[in-house]
Amino acid sequence: MPSRAERARPRVVFGVGTVSRLGSELDALHFRRVLLITTPGRGGSLAPVRDAVGHRSAGVCDRATLHVPIEQVRAALADVDAAAPDALLAVGGGSAVGLAKAIALERRLPIAAVPTTYAGSEMTGIWGVTDGDVKRTGRDAGVAPRLVVYDASLTVSLPADVSATSGMNAIAHAVEAMYAPAVDPDATAAAEDALRVLSRALPSVVARPADLDARALAQRGAHAAGLALELAVMGLHHKVCHVLGGTFGLPHAPTHAAVLPHVVDFNAPAAPAAMARIAAALGAADAAAGIRALNQQLGMATSLGCLGLCESDVDRAAELVASETYPNPRSVTTDDVRVLLRGALWAD
Ligand code: NAD
Repeated sequence: MPSRAERARPRVVFGVGTVSRLGSELDALHFRRVLLITTPGRGGSLAPVRDAVGHRSAGVCDRATLHVPIEQVRAALADVDAAAPDALLAVGGGSAVGLAKAIALERRLPIAAVPTTYAGSEMTGIWGVTDGDVKRTGRDAGVAPRLVVYDASLTVSLPADVSATSGMNAIAHAVEAMYAPAVDPDATAAAEDALRVLSRALPSVVARPADLDARALAQRGAHAAGLALELAVMGLHHKVCHVLGGTFGLPHAPTHAAVLPHVVDFNAPAAPAAMARIAAALGAADAAAGIRALNQQLGMATSLGCLGLCESDVDRAAELVASETYPNPRSVTTDDVRVLLRGALWAD
């Protein structure tokens, strides 16, 4: 795990309208021919980005999909070889940034990112590629974006439900960073900041999706949560979500929102100081209650049953989660996970 001091810092630019500076920011890094990486169908709606990139464009690859399937990576590598860019420009959420990272792993191209959700992947060197139902993940400083431009005006089109789910995914990163073992104090500070900012910004974004101030605040929270994720190792919550998404096909971000209060309840006795700080940052008396209240305000599905988990899946899921090793403040048995999942199956 890199400490903040050891980690190469990306150039980070915030502000409404800053996309217009993208060209000069790319020039400053000597990125002369950039291939724009995004999700299907979004290439046409990115006129401000394309205008700013101008003559530096090496084309658009819009093959990014959730969890970075290996087939998409192979097809994108063929696009890259044909276009011969000297850098990648990921525009979108974790899927676009994720595909850019998978390409960068193979071709060692640097990445610039213009994030338009709140997932926070732009601040990490964590990559993931899915082959069949197996998702491989790893860390590689070489795939961490070198330039990140946060322009809230590019996020007003992000639907309220995707804003909420990607934001709750960021909250989950911040929560687990707060109780991670031997955590870098910079990670804790970033996580606390992320919880404070996102818990206030996300309800405003969902209530008023065109509110640029709320959008900009949510981006600041997403940036801080991404930094916390980069500097800390994740625990039980991420393992549960990984198994539920990878093996049982539950949707990634909503699953984070539904599982998080249950894991926080489970971990609370083993990490009372971290839980008190999480609660304070959320403005709640109790950490899990604060997360449940936020889920409710954002209209999130809170039961795993609604997201597709069946009673008959619980035993197998519990075994898979308990069979892996990961740092967690409280040790975890198969029975513990079974009880946790049963509690989350039809929770309010
Ligand atoms: P996403 O990138 O899949 O985007 C969700 C949807 O929103 C897509 O259909 C996309 O086209 C659309 N979209 C994005 N921006 C938009 C905009 N401004 N207007 C309209 N539509 C827009 O979702 P996500 O939650 O950002 O990312 C999830 C993925 O990221 C998962 O695969 C997760 O594992 C990964 N992730 C990785 C890291 C990391 O550090 N490696 C961190 C967080 C998440």
